[in-house]
Amino acid sequence: MNMPEHDFIVVGAGTAGCVLAATLSEDERARVLLIEVGGARPLPAQSVPSLWPTLLQGPASWGEFTVKQAATETSTLLPRGRGLGGSSAINAMVFARGHRSGYDRWAGEGAKGWGFDDLLPYFKRSENAAGRDPALRGSGGPLTVGPAAPAHPVIEACLEAASETGYARAADISGGLEEGFGLADLNIVHGRRQSAADAYLTPVLDRPNLTVVTDALVQGLRIHGGRCRAVEYRTGGERVTADCAGEVVLAAGTIGTAQLLLLSGIGPAAHLADVGIRTVLDLPGVGAALHDHPIASVVFGAARPVLAPKSSNLGEAIGLVRSDPSLDAPDLQVLFVDAPTHLPSIKGPGTATPSASP
Ligand SMILES: Cc1cc2nc3c(=O)[nH]c(=O)nc-3n(C[C@H](O)[C@H](O)[C@H](O)COP(=O)(O)OP(=O)(O)OC[C@H]3O[C@@H](n4cnc5c(N)ncnc54)[C@H](O)[C@@H]3O)c2cc1C
Repeated sequence: MNMPEHDFIVVGAGTAGCVLAATLSEDERARVLLIEVGGARPLPAQSVPSLWPTLLQGPASWGEFTVKQAATETSTLLPRGRGLGGSSAINAMVFARGHRSGYDRWAGEGAKGWGFDDLLPYFKRSENAAGRDPALRGSGGPLTVGPAAPAHPVIEACLEAASETGYARAADISGGLEEGFGLADLNIVHGRRQSAADAYLTPVLDRPNLTVVTDALVQGLRIHGGRCRAVEYRTGGERVTADCAGEVVLAAGTIGTAQLLLLSGIGPAAHLADVGIRTVLDLPGVGAALHDHPIASVVFGAARPVLAPKSSNLGEAIGLVRSDPSLDAPDLQVLFVDAPTHLPSIKGPGTATPSASP
């Protein structure tokens, strides 16, 4: 019998996969394989922050749409990235932790070790955030983050409007402790996007113990004796089986990870039987209860001409606010966007263009 060639196999080279592959391969005795369905080379537009809306359909994205939604009776674009960096290579580059109450609620509901204070050392380790409070923010980490400088005049006007309405102006809205509105930190370095692949993976690609396979679709996991022993993938018309001596880590995203478990027979037995998949482990809940965050847009026309946004991510400021003052924590994230666009389902000013629709 051949010895497995890999100690760790990471499926999906998105945000999580890049961090995991880089961290696991720090130990030079650990042989790490990272498998990604998308390509190795980013499109030129992926480096240009203001072009991210053009990436949501095309080779850097899976380009899927939802089923018709009950509330609107329309389907909606469901973007997720593919290629090294995954969704971090097509996203809007807002670098924010959310609010500490979100993590503390996880811990309160039983996710031990996932409260804000538990995670703070990891947040700090990931970032290089100059000029912030060192008790809260990190320096020297792989992700260099900071606010737009200078902010677009429309964004500054939005922040002033928020203050006039009575909301606090946050000094560091990305830090996780404040409510109100402020300039968010962005994953933009010298005017270019910094994806998780740029920050974590590219600098370590020459490690002899790290193998990265792109253009390879993982189609199933081989499970024997209650352990995942191998990963099956298809590349260039060939079927390959990669054996694993240690751990297989699924980092294929919210949707891709659940899909791969289901394809491998891990999920609700009745559903698997319906679609003709042999059950390996009856695990109710896999592939269910997806919670996404829909965007509801409010579009304004400017009273006077404004400069077209160029070098930034089109959404430089965010707000964390309570939809009801009686709530004990913020439950809404407001994003100020300076691009003239609106969802196709709502009426916008004549100068704005509708965003992608099916
Ligand atoms: C349009 C958009 C804008 C966003 N804006 C922001 C923002 O401004 N700020 C923010 O914090 N977050 C933002 N997000 C969310 C953020 O990017 C994601 O939460 C994060 O990248 C998810 O990381 P992940 O590792 O779980 O998945 P992903 O980064 O999506 O990685 C999954 C990877 O697995 C690969 N894969 C999937 N299935 C398979 C398979 N079977 N075989 C091989 N490979 C597979 C995919 O191709 C992909 O590369 C945005 C997301 C999108 C789509």
